[in-house]
Order: sequence, then C-alpha cells, then structure tokens
Amino acid sequence: MNILKDFLLQLTLIVIPIFIYFTFITERVKSDKNKNVIMSILWGISILLCMSFPVSYGENARLDLRFIPLLFGTLYLGYFPGVFLSALIIFFRLYFGISLGFYNTVFVLLLSLPVIFYFQKSFARSKKDKRVKIAVGLSFYYCLLGLTFFGVLNGFSFDHMSVQIIHLIFVVVVTWLFIILSEMIREIQVLRIEVQNSEKFRVVSELTSVFAHEIRNPMQVTRGFLQLLNDPDLPSKKKEYIQISIEELDRANEIIDDFLLFSKPDINNNKKVNVGYQLERVINIIQSYSLNHNVEIKTDILYNCWIYANPQKLNQSLINILKNAVESMPDGGIVWITCTTADDGYIKINIKDQGIGMTNKQIDRLGTPFYSLKEKGTGLGMMISFQIIRSFKGKIIVNSEKGTGTEFIIFLPQESQTERTAI
Ligand code: ADP
Ligand code: MG
Repeated sequence: MNILKDFLLQLTLIVIPIFIYFTFITERVKSDKNKNVIMSILWGISILLCMSFPVSYGENARLDLRFIPLLFGTLYLGYFPGVFLSALIIFFRLYFGISLGFYNTVFVLLLSLPVIFYFQKSFARSKKDKRVKIAVGLSFYYCLLGLTFFGVLNGFSFDHMSVQIIHLIFVVVVTWLFIILSEMIREIQVLRIEVQNSEKFRVVSELTSVFAHEIRNPMQVTRGFLQLLNDPDLPSKKKEYIQISIEELDRANEIIDDFLLFSKPDINNNKKVNVGYQLERVINIIQSYSLNHNVEIKTDILYNCWIYANPQKLNQSLINILKNAVESMPDGGIVWITCTTADDGYIKINIKDQGIGMTNKQIDRLGTPFYSLKEKGTGLGMMISFQIIRSFKGKIIVNSEKGTGTEFIIFLPQESQTERTAI
C-alpha cells in the first residue's frame, strides 16, 4: 500500500509542471524559445522532486518517475533540453552517493537517450496516434532496460522483480495517459487559434466587396482627371487636377495598406502603440462598410495615448466592436468614438452607437462563444475582442439600453511615453 502511495505522489509531482505550463505560461509567454526554457526548467524541477521522494524499497534502488519528464522534455522540446535533463538526473543521483543504483541510472540513460533522440524527429513530425505509440514504446524500452540492469546487478529475486514490474507497468500507463492528455490540450489550443484566424478572415471577406468599391472610386476619379488632362485646350486648372488625382491615389494606397495590415497573420510581438493612430487605421478600414450601412462615424481622439500591445490584435478587437456597432443600426445612425486618458493610468476608448441595444441578459451572454442574434452571425467577434483586451491586461465595460444604443468602454493600461517612436 505504501508503494502505491509513493507512486501516486510521484504522479502529482509530474502533473504540477504540466498544469503550471498550460495555465500560466502558454498564454503569457509569447516567444517559443522562452517557452522551451521555462518548460525545461519545470521538467527539471519535476525530476528533482521525483528523485527526492522516490518509491521506498530496498537499499540500493530508488524507483521514481524521473523518466517521464525526461521523455516528454526530449520529445517535445528537442535534443538540448534532453541533454540538460539527463545531466540533471545523473548529477542529482550522484548527490545520493555512488552505489549500484547510480551505475544503473547511468547505464540505462546511456542506452536509452540515443534511442529517444533517434525517435525525436519522427515524433515531432507525426500525428497524435503515432506520437502515443512512440512515447509508450520508448517508456517500455527504458523500463525494460532498467529492470534488466537491476536484475543483473542485484540478482533476479522475486521481491525485487515484482516492484520493478509494477514500476514498468506504472511508468508505461502514466506515459500513455500523459501523452494523450498533453496531445488533447495541444489540439484544443490549435483549434482556438484556428477559430480566431477564421473569424478574422470572415471579417476580411465580408469587408472585401465594399473595400473593392472603395478602391475603385479614387481610381475612377483619377481616370476622369487624366482624361481631362489629355485635352489640349485644358484651362488653367491643370495643377489642381493633378493634385486631386495624387490625393485620390494616396487614399487608395492607404486603404490597401490598412487592409493588408489587418489581414496579415499575427506576429506575436507587443510594442508601444499609439492608440489614436490605430483607431484612425481601424476607422479607415471600416469607413466604407459603415457608409454602406448609412452610418456616420464621429471621432474625438487624443493622439497622445500609448499602450503596450500587439497593434494587429488591437485592431482586430476594435474592428469587431465597431462592426457590431454599425450592424446594430439597420436604418443608419451615428457611431461616436473617443479616446482619452482615464484615471489610474488607463487609456479609455469609448465606442457608442444608436443601435438596437441589448437587455441585461444579452449583455451577460456577450463574449460567450457562438452567441449571436444575427442571421449570418458567428458569435465569435466579441469572444475574440474580449480575449484580446484581456491579454493586454485591459477591461471592457458594456452599457446598453434596448432601443436606445450601446456603449463599449475599453480600458487599457497606459504606457508612459518618454520619446515618440514610430509605431
Ligand atoms: P456576431 O456579430 O457574429 O453576431 P459577435 O460576437 O460579434 O457575433 O456579437 C454577438 C452578439 O452580440 C451579436 O449577435 C449582437 O446580438 C450582440 N451585440 C454585439 N454588439 C452589439 C451592439 N453594439 N449593439 C447591439 N447588439 C450587439
Ligand atoms: Mg460581430
């Protein structure tokens, strides 16, 4: 019974780093390199803990689940973490003294590490089912090696062997469980990113037809003026026509730039962002869509509002909110957008419409996946906006009255700006 208790403690010592990683690290740490370093350290801690509280039996043997963090660390993170974790095991085992158990550890590691390295590449390329097979196979191989070495060094007595066999079964089953668990969590994460992207591209494709129209306008205006310029009896207005044509082309260029910026895949880097400037870009993108819906956008924007954020994501969340504001007014109306500094070091963005409004119950459901009252809605826009604002450590307050309109107040932590850098 004590042995079982010890094995269960070992299990807990491995679960903790996995949960710490998926709860606190994946969302907050953006760079893959940093994530790998943190995960290697967590697996390292898990190895130290597993080895510090081993399954107690016999004098020379320390049975524990150290292999699982080593296996997962190597398969998911690569060679260097694998070498780091193996070295950690050897040095920490050395600390407990040089005994038969120490030689056992070193021999088994020396024989199993190359095999794990060999399978690491195909593991990284494989799908879930094959990954499970590789991990379980490797863990079986490692335990079998351990069991054989142990037998050779200590003799194949029934007492010793039975614990070794329990160890083998336990390690293999735990590997199987954990690999399935971590693959499932990974799948959910990938799905979440895909949902975010697909919603973004849906918005892009919805805006595209009006966008094309908006590009055609300046082109037609320019074409008209070019035709006029072609006239040899052109009056003195030549300069003015050229100026208007250039301005129209610049405008078309600006719209294309903003659109490309919006539809570009996300790059995970936060930087100092001028909120006023981003709002202007967002309004540029949504302008033609709102005109099509007879909606006028009025702004009062302070340009000295800086936050630390990913500009593309900020734009995406603002566009989702603005698009809803426009869509809430089927007969047209006005959307007010203001941006000011608030108390407590926050930037306050206010987006207010004169639309259909929402009841308190509807406000409560806002941001839950697939909640939509629109015929062709996806109910993902708000969820994504909320997620993005939360990731910038901001908050959103929604005030709404049925039949009167809705107000979104977004607070974002201000970044003190000493020098004005480009965005
Ligand atoms: P979708 O726009 O695809 O329906 P969203 O997540 O963007 O999905 O919005 C969810 C729902 O929230 C909308 O269907 C709408 O009923 C409501 N909503 C969001 N913003 C507003 C607003 N400004 N005015 C009224 N209702 C809104
Ligand atoms: Mg929407």
